[in-house]
Amino acid sequence: MTVTKTADHEATLQQIYALAAAGCDIVRCTCNEPEAAEGLARIMPRSPVPIVADIHHQYRRALEALEAGVHCLRLNPGNIRNPEHIKLVAREAKDRNVPIRIGVNGGSLHPDLYKKYGGKVTPEAMVESALDEIRYFDDVGFDLIKISVKASSVPLMIEAYRQLAEVTDYPLHLGVTEAGPPPIGTLKATAGMATLLAEGIGDTIRYSLTADPVEEAKAGRQLLETLGLRERKNIDLISCPSCGRAEVDVVTIANDAMKAFGEREIPLQVAVMGCVVNGPGEARDADLGIAAGNKRGHLFVKGQNVMVVPEDEMVDTLVEWAEFIHEHGADAALEKAATTKDAAKRAAEEDRARNLNDRGDDANGTESVIAEIRRGH
Ligand code: SF4
Repeated sequence: MTVTKTADHEATLQQIYALAAAGCDIVRCTCNEPEAAEGLARIMPRSPVPIVADIHHQYRRALEALEAGVHCLRLNPGNIRNPEHIKLVAREAKDRNVPIRIGVNGGSLHPDLYKKYGGKVTPEAMVESALDEIRYFDDVGFDLIKISVKASSVPLMIEAYRQLAEVTDYPLHLGVTEAGPPPIGTLKATAGMATLLAEGIGDTIRYSLTADPVEEAKAGRQLLETLGLRERKNIDLISCPSCGRAEVDVVTIANDAMKAFGEREIPLQVAVMGCVVNGPGEARDADLGIAAGNKRGHLFVKGQNVMVVPEDEMVDTLVEWAEFIHEHGADAALEKAATTKDAAKRAAEEDRARNLNDRGDDANGTESVIAEIRRGH
């Protein structure tokens, strides 16, 4: 969702472009004043993605937004309450074939429902609010509907969506509202939306973060990619958590690698592993990886050692090979390594043997701690 004044159409368009570039498929803009509707009229012909107008309190803004040519309206049943106004907007939307999202929000539930459910926001109250609104739409034969029942409480929104999915086939838009700033806001929103998506509930999503909206778009894209619901666009960096066997500062190398890959559109899985004892094996399914050895990095492609580089070149080498594999494929990368891979394999075995010799089988010292505990008995 944009955070600019919609009336300032140039600033809003800049934000829409940035959101679209970050992987956002639909953008919502507030339509809270007549000037905002005029802004939408200027935005519509230039927007690269569909625009949803967010309407609160004033149904006239909905009619103006439709006139401006928006692709969708979002109405909050908690604050547009006159059934005649709701039906008027639905009729107009029907004539223009424009969908409406019924956006129930736990924080702005209709006062009657709030009272009915004992002065509490409950999943049942939120579902009832959505169903009431659908009935108004039914009255005028309008069914281009999607629904959201967002709340800032994750268990509440999960339960509300589950109940809603039981009683309607309309598409559902997911979100944890007012989730807060990252990282906790991102975590809360992810907990709520991922739970539902994994159950097959949800058709569109939004992260409501107190942050630059581009962060919302990135988080949304990453969530969908992580769940395998959207094709990967960027690197999937996996890295070990490090342990007593690590031969390098894995946290620094992994963060440096994240920075180096940045927004590069290389949809590969790349591994950063702290030691050559377990690293290549544990990351054998990655397209490409590097494991630390004796002040050097062992690069592997599809689990096969391909070359050895000094420790300070580990990140640059990863990026270089990732680009090569992205362009030419893993087989070409293994061919490119034809003259180096035997030596690389031997070097990895040497470092592996040395690590095992120096640190033994109990690199984390677990056995000596257990022996100490037993001595104390
Ligand atoms: S054993 Fe090696 S790869 Fe596994 S966590 Fe420890 S350092 Fe990382």
